[in-house]
Amino acid sequence: MANKLCTDRAEHLQELFLSANWKGYFKTISDTIGFNLSVFSEDGSLIFSTDDYYPICRPLLSSPDFRAKCDAYCRCTMMSAISKGKPVIYKCYAKMMSFALPVEYLSEKGIILGQGSFSSYEDFLEFMGRLSLFKVRDFSVTGPLKFTTAENARNACRLVDSSINQLLKNSQDAILLKQKMDSLKDVLGMWGVAAKEQPETVYKYMIANLFTLLDIKHVAILTLDRQRGVFTSLYSVKDEGPTEAFSIKADDIILQALRKGKPFVSSMDPFMAGRIDFLKDLEIFYFFPILTRPRLESVLGIFGSPLKAGDISIINAFCKQTAISIENQRLHHELCRKLDIFAAISELTKTIAPIFDYKALLQTILDKSADLLKAEQGSLMLLDRETEVLLLEAKKGIGDGITEKLRIKKGEGIAGKVAEFGEPFLVEDVENDPRIKQKNRLRYKTRSFVSVPVRIEDRIIGVLNLSDKITGEAFDEDDLKLIQSFATQAAIVMERNSFYTQIEELRRLSITDPLTGLLNRRYLLDRLEEELSRSQRHGRLFSLLMLDIDGFKDYNDTFGHPMGDRALKAISEAILNSVRSIDIVSRYGGDEFMVILPETDKALAVSIAERLKSDVGKTELANSLTDAGLSPSNLTLSIGIASYPEDGNTTEMLIEHVDKALYLAKNKGRNRIEVFS
Ligand code: GH3
Ligand code: MG
Repeated sequence: MANKLCTDRAEHLQELFLSANWKGYFKTISDTIGFNLSVFSEDGSLIFSTDDYYPICRPLLSSPDFRAKCDAYCRCTMMSAISKGKPVIYKCYAKMMSFALPVEYLSEKGIILGQGSFSSYEDFLEFMGRLSLFKVRDFSVTGPLKFTTAENARNACRLVDSSINQLLKNSQDAILLKQKMDSLKDVLGMWGVAAKEQPETVYKYMIANLFTLLDIKHVAILTLDRQRGVFTSLYSVKDEGPTEAFSIKADDIILQALRKGKPFVSSMDPFMAGRIDFLKDLEIFYFFPILTRPRLESVLGIFGSPLKAGDISIINAFCKQTAISIENQRLHHELCRKLDIFAAISELTKTIAPIFDYKALLQTILDKSADLLKAEQGSLMLLDRETEVLLLEAKKGIGDGITEKLRIKKGEGIAGKVAEFGEPFLVEDVENDPRIKQKNRLRYKTRSFVSVPVRIEDRIIGVLNLSDKITGEAFDEDDLKLIQSFATQAAIVMERNSFYTQIEELRRLSITDPLTGLLNRRYLLDRLEEELSRSQRHGRLFSLLMLDIDGFKDYNDTFGHPMGDRALKAISEAILNSVRSIDIVSRYGGDEFMVILPETDKALAVSIAERLKSDVGKTELANSLTDAGLSPSNLTLSIGIASYPEDGNTTEMLIEHVDKALYLAKNKGRNRIEVFS
C-alpha cells in the first residue's frame, strides 16, 4: 500500500491516531489479536500502522508488480467497506485473512485494516505460487506458520470495532465539549480571570465595587446553608467594617418573591408591612436576587439607607454579572473535570489492557473503579450465562464471611435487578429510597451506593457495586456517569481477555493428550505434513522415530492400570527430557510414541534414539512400585527409524516404513533400535 502520508482531509483522524496514546492502544490490540493494524484515511492514504508491514508482506513489496496488485486489491476492498459503512472480511492478494473496518471521528471517515495470516495450507501454497510468478526470491518463513480462519478474522474485527469505536466516541465527546466551552467563552467574552475565580472572590469584588460606586452604608451577601435551611450572611459589611452574621429562613416570603422573578424586595414593599424590624437595626432593607437559573444562588442585601431608582438598576446589573461569573466558573470546573475524567479513564484502560490473568484482571478493574469513586467497599459480580446467577468474582473491603452468600439470582435484590433490567442504581440514602426501603446494614458506614451493569453491546455480563465513599458523602450523578464509562471500557477488556483465554485453552486441549500432556496424534500428523513440505521446498532432510514400550500389557496386568498410567507419564517425561527442543514428541497411541527430528539424518537419528532408549531404561518407576508393595522393574523401549528423503516422500510412506522398522525391532527381541532399509 502506498506509504504517502495523508492529506489535510484527514486532519482530525491523523492528529488523533498519531498521538502516543493511540499508538499505544493500537499496539496493545494488535499484539493481543495477532493482527497487524493499519489506519487509512478515506482517500486511502496510510495514517499509521502498528508494524511497517506484516513481516510476510515486506519482501513481497520489493516487487513493484506485486505491490501494484496488492495495493489495488486492498484499496478496492477498503473503498467498498467505507461505502457500505460495514466491515468486510476478506483474503488479500497475498492470500492472507484480513478485515477492513470503517471508522468515523468528528464526521471524518477512515478505515482500519487488519492483517492476519493464511487461512489454510492451500492458500499458503497459492501464495508461494504467486511469489515465483513475480520472481520474489528472498522469502523465508522464520517462525512456525500460524493459520488464521475467517472466524478468527471476524472475531478480531468485532473486538477492534468495539474497543476502537468506544475510545473514538470518548475522545469525540471530550472534543465536542471543549468546542462548546470555547464558543461559550467567546460569547461571554469574559472567560479570562473571572471564570476561574471562586464565588467568594466574585462576591468580594462586587461588594468593593458597590461601596465605591454608590453611597451605601451596609451590604451583605447571603448564601444557602442547606443543613439549617436558611440563607445566612457570608459577608456582612458596614462602611466601618464587618458586622454580626444573620439569617433568613429559606422559605421566607422575601426569598419566595425573589425566586419567582421579582427584581428586588424592599422594606418599602406593601407586603413587607409589619416586618420593618425583622432584622435588628435593619429597618431599611433591599434584597436583590443573584439567580443562576433555576436556582437562587445567593441574595445581595443593602441596608440602612434608601436607594435611588438609578442605583437599583446598577445593582441589578451587578447581580446579573455576578451570577454569570459564578455559572461560568461552574462550567469551567465541569469542563476541567470531564477532561480529567476522560484522561483518567483512558489511562485506566491502558493499565488494565495488558493484564492476561483473568482473576487478576477482574480484581484490578474493581480496585480501579473503587479508586475512581473513592469508594471503600465494592464487588464485581459476573452473570453465569447458563444458570443466570450472579457470582462474586472480585471484592474489596468486604469481610470473608459475608462473601459466601454472594450468589444472587437475576432479578433478586439490587444487583439482581440491575442485571435483569440493565438500569444502574444510584442510591443516595438506602433507608429513604422508595425502591429499596431497608435498614442500612451494619457493614456499611454510609447509606449511599451505586450499582451499575457491565455490558458488551446489549448483553449484560455482570454488575459492579460500590459503596462507602471515603469522604462519607453520598455518590452523585457524576460518580454514576464516571463509573458507567469506565465499566464500558472494562467490559471490552474483559470480553477480549476471556475470549482469548478460551481460544488458547481450546487450542491447547485440541492438540494435547490429556494423560501425558504430550502433543497428540492429530497434531503430529499435521506437523509431519508441514515438515515434509518445508523439507521438500528447501531441500532439507528429517527423521522419524516410532517408539513402543516393551511388554506394557504385562506391566498393566501385574501392577494394575493406574500404575500403568503413572509409568506412561514418567516415560513421556523422560522422552521429552531426552530429545532436543526442536524435536516434536507425541503420544501416537496407547503405549506408542512418535518423534519428528527436523534437519536430522539417519546417523544422527540413531544416536538420538540410543540416548532416548538409555534414558527411558533408567527412568525410576521404583517409587510407585514400592508404594504398591511390589518389586521395582524398569521398562524398555523398542524404536524404529525412517528418514526423509531416502525412506519415502509422502507422509503415508514414511509412517508405513517407520512402523516396519519398529516391527523389526520387536521381532528381533525388543529393547533395541532398527532403521528402515
Ligand atoms: P510389545 O512389547 O509387543 O509392545 O508388548 P505390549 O504388551 O506392550 O503390547 P502392545 O504394545 O500391543 O500393548 C499396549 C498395551 O498398552 C495395551 C494396554 O494394556 C496398554 N495401554 C494402552 N494405553 C494405556 C493407557 O492409557 N494406560 C495404561 N495403563 N495402559 C495402556
Ligand atoms: Mg507395547
